[in-house]
Amino acid sequence: MNHFELRGGELFCEDVPLARIAQAVGTPVYVYSSATLERHYTVLRDALVAHGVKDPLIAFAVKANSNVAVLRTLARLGAGADVVSEGEVRRALAAGVPPERIVFSGVGKTEAEVAFALQAGVAEINVESEPELDLVDRVAQRLGVRAQIAIRVNPDVQAGGHEKISTGKSENKFGVSFSEAERLYAKASNLAGVRPVGVACHIGSQITDLAPMAEAFAKMRGLVERLQREGLRVERLDLGGGLGVPYFNQPEPPSPDDYAAMIAETVGGLDVGLAFEPGRMIAANAGVLIAGVTHVHERPEGRRFLVLDAAMNDLIRPAMYDAYHDIRAVRPREGEARPYDVVGPVCETGDTFTRDRALPPLEPGDLVAFMTAGAYGAAMASEYNSRLLVPEVLVKGAEFAVVRPRPTYDDMLARERPAPWL
Ligand SMILES: *Cc1c(COP(=O)(O)O)cnc(C)c1O
Repeated sequence: MNHFELRGGELFCEDVPLARIAQAVGTPVYVYSSATLERHYTVLRDALVAHGVKDPLIAFAVKANSNVAVLRTLARLGAGADVVSEGEVRRALAAGVPPERIVFSGVGKTEAEVAFALQAGVAEINVESEPELDLVDRVAQRLGVRAQIAIRVNPDVQAGGHEKISTGKSENKFGVSFSEAERLYAKASNLAGVRPVGVACHIGSQITDLAPMAEAFAKMRGLVERLQREGLRVERLDLGGGLGVPYFNQPEPPSPDDYAAMIAETVGGLDVGLAFEPGRMIAANAGVLIAGVTHVHERPEGRRFLVLDAAMNDLIRPAMYDAYHDIRAVRPREGEARPYDVVGPVCETGDTFTRDRALPPLEPGDLVAFMTAGAYGAAMASEYNSRLLVPEVLVKGAEFAVVRPRPTYDDMLARERPAPWL
C-alpha cells in the first residue's frame, strides 16, 4: 500500500498534488511519502512481533534510500540502519540512529572505515571473510576496544529478481561458507580485539518467493545450533533484507505476514535476538520520480518517443537491471492509451526507460510519475552528462519539504579546479 493516489483527476502524494511540487521545485524530482515509509516499517515490525519475534532490530538498508530526512523518519519509529560505508555510518548518525542500532555490512571495509565505525560504537560489524576478521581485530586492538562482530554466511541458495542483485550463491563475492563460518566464529572468540555476537546472511534483493529464504534461514538455524552446541555464545541472528515489492508486471511479493510466519517457522524458538535489513520493502513504494515531458516525437514509420527531462542518471534501474516502473500521467488526459517509447535526453541508447508502453495522451509540458522509485532511485543518481543531481522532496500530510535541493551549475563547477599547469 502507498499514499500516491488520483484525486479529482490528478495524482497526489498524501494531501499534496504532485503538480504543485513540480511547480515549486522543478523537474525531475523525487517525492517521498512519510506515511508510506512509516506504514511499511510498522507493518513489518508488527507482523514480526505478532509471530513471536521479540524486539526485532529492523535496520533499514541505507543504500536503498540514503536521504537523511528519510532515515530520520524511520529512526523516529525505532529503526536501526544497515550501512555499507563510512559515508552511510555518518548519514545514519546524522539522522539520529543510535549507534547501538547500526549494523555495518559490506565485503571491502577499509581500515579507516572500520576505525571510524568502532569509534562511533556501532552495534555489529558483519565480517565477510577471514582477512576482514583479522583486519577488524587489528584495528580494534589498536584502538583499545573490542569489536562486536557477526560472521556473514553465504548460504548458497539462488534468489533475487535479477542476476545483478543475487548475493547468496557461493560464486557471489559475499560472505563465507557454513564450515568456514564455524571455524571463523571459533577463531573470533579467541581474538583479543573482537567479540563474536552472531551470524548474518543476505541472499539477494527483489525476492518474491519465500522458498529460497526459508531454505537459507533453516540452514542458518542449523549453524546457530551447531555453534551453541560447541559452547559458543550466539546472541544475534541477522537475516538480511531482500523482500520484493510489486513493480506491477512482476510476481506479487509475499506479504509481511507471510514473511513473518516463515521466520517463525524457520528460526522461531532459537535463543537469539533477530535482526532484519530491509531496504526496498520499506522505501520503494514510498517514492516516485516526477519528470516533465520535453517532446513527443513521432517517427513517420510509427515509433512514438516520449522524451522526458529525467534520464538514466536520475533513475538507472531500467538501464542497469532491465527494471520495470509503472509510469502514470500526473494529470491524465481523456483519450485512448497509445504506445510510447519513454526515453531521456542522455546520449546513450541505454537511456530508454521502456518501449511500447501504453500511456494516455501526453503533450510537452505534461508531467509523468515513475512509480515505486523510492528505493535504489535517488541513491543511485549521478551527474552523468553534467546533469544536475536530482533533488528530493519529503511529504507529510499537507506539507512538503525539499530535503535535498537541486544544486546550481555553479555548485557543480565549483567542485573542480584546473591543474596547476593549465
Ligand atoms: C542491499 C542490502 C540489503 C537490502 O536489500 P533490499 O533488497 O533492499 O531489502 C540488506 N542487507 C545487505 C547486506 C545488503 O547489501
